[in-house]
Amino acid sequence: MPLDRDVELDELYREIILDHYRNPRNRGSLDQPNAIGEGDNPLCGDEVRVDLDIRDGRVSDVRFEAKGCSISQASASMMTEAVKGLSLEEVDSLFETFKGMMYGSDEVDVEALGDLEALQGVRKFPVRVKCATLAWNTLQEALEEFGKGRG
Ligand code: ZN
Repeated sequence: MPLDRDVELDELYREIILDHYRNPRNRGSLDQPNAIGEGDNPLCGDEVRVDLDIRDGRVSDVRFEAKGCSISQASASMMTEAVKGLSLEEVDSLFETFKGMMYGSDEVDVEALGDLEALQGVRKFPVRVKCATLAWNTLQEALEEFGKGRG
């Protein structure tokens, strides 16, 4: 019964998203971030700020503050959890995988995404895809600024 299976999966995804929304990981700010990103999604009223401490080419620490819908806040929490400790190259590659999933590629290895996989249900609601990708786009802007600063 494929229908039932889809319903169960949706329910599981919904619970993961709600858990990150209610118990956000890495929420707050860093005392001395060396990269900061701020982004918003006017369509929904979401705002997010990402603080990063980048050391030796890795995300040594990361925090976020977010206002807006549950999807944008849950996605920011999942993003910080996923990128903490990764090298900047690994962050890039994870972001590509995540975008691939959100924009409907079937060639994506969702196993690599952990909790982020739960956001794939959002694909059914194109307006909300911007909510789910906001924290990631903000992270990428912060990393680009960081790169320029070292340039
Ligand atoms: Zn939103």
